[in-house]
Amino acid sequence: MLNRFWIALLFVVSWHVGVLDASAGDVDARYRACVKECQETGCVGERCFPHCKFSSKGVPFDGPWYMQEPLYLKWKQWDCQGDCRYHCMIDREKEREALGTGPVKYHGKWPFKRVYGIQEPVSVVFSALNLAMHFHGWLSFFILLYYKLPLKQDRKAYYEFAGLWHIYGLLSLNSWFWSAIFHSRDVDLTEKLDYSSAVALLGYSFILSILRSFNVKAEASRVMVAAPFLSFIATHIMFLNFYKLDYGWNMKVCVVLAVAQLLIWAIFAGVTRHPSRWKLWLVVVGGGLAMLLEIYDFPPYQGFVDAHALWHATTIPLTYIWWSFIRDDAEFQTSNLLKKAK
Ligand SMILES: [Zn+2]
Repeated sequence: MLNRFWIALLFVVSWHVGVLDASAGDVDARYRACVKECQETGCVGERCFPHCKFSSKGVPFDGPWYMQEPLYLKWKQWDCQGDCRYHCMIDREKEREALGTGPVKYHGKWPFKRVYGIQEPVSVVFSALNLAMHFHGWLSFFILLYYKLPLKQDRKAYYEFAGLWHIYGLLSLNSWFWSAIFHSRDVDLTEKLDYSSAVALLGYSFILSILRSFNVKAEASRVMVAAPFLSFIATHIMFLNFYKLDYGWNMKVCVVLAVAQLLIWAIFAGVTRHPSRWKLWLVVVGGGLAMLLEIYDFPPYQGFVDAHALWHATTIPLTYIWWSFIRDDAEFQTSNLLKKAK
């Protein structure tokens, strides 16, 4: 009896795992037939794609690396599959619109219209603006620390969190760079790079929120606080890359990391007498509202602006306020340290 229960449970679980990968759009029989035909003939209706002429000789995609084709052939295959899926999706969405039904997701993504071959142009523009904002923020922080504020005798900054914020700046630049690439061209590699960079940034900023708000200054204590979280984040990134890119699970991990650090900053803003705590409040409230956009996902308006793109838009002003808080913190802490020294 018990055995049968476990077999049934295993069956249900494995069926769900299989279904999770598919979306309403790509389980549709007409869409599937269209993609299959396109990959054989290289055409959807009148449109034909040159990449599909160099199709593989039946070498499996996910075999061991030494069995796979050279990278340039793989790119061609990806191009062929990408073009087939895109044009079949656009055709299918036109049919659905004529029938009066709303858009559905394909392979976990909403149907977006390409502009000059760029998949989600609005998200690319916003990602680039976030990148620019982080660069501006980090550069002005750097100039403040090393050219405007007084330095110690060994030419190091008084501010004890300088190094941690520099790493934060680098991880942010890296994350928004890959976000812009991923939204221009969504293939397996760019997707993994974007997800991994985002998780690394989110995990690191979570650790940083603990270190700064509890004012952890000793190197040994910092290592002790960070170690368990760092190992969890590293394991999670490896899980996504080498085991399974599980969107649902990754979303949960990211939401927990994001909510936890917003709460930590909110509590810090509530108890501290930091002169710039109102900037923290702005970022916490703004960040919380922006996160709703990422969770309540809606289809792209006119095929361009979806919840995710809007979420990337909201982080642009928040990034500006955030770096301004970091600069204020550096100034405030430096003047406190100098007062103590006198
Ligand atoms: Zn994105």
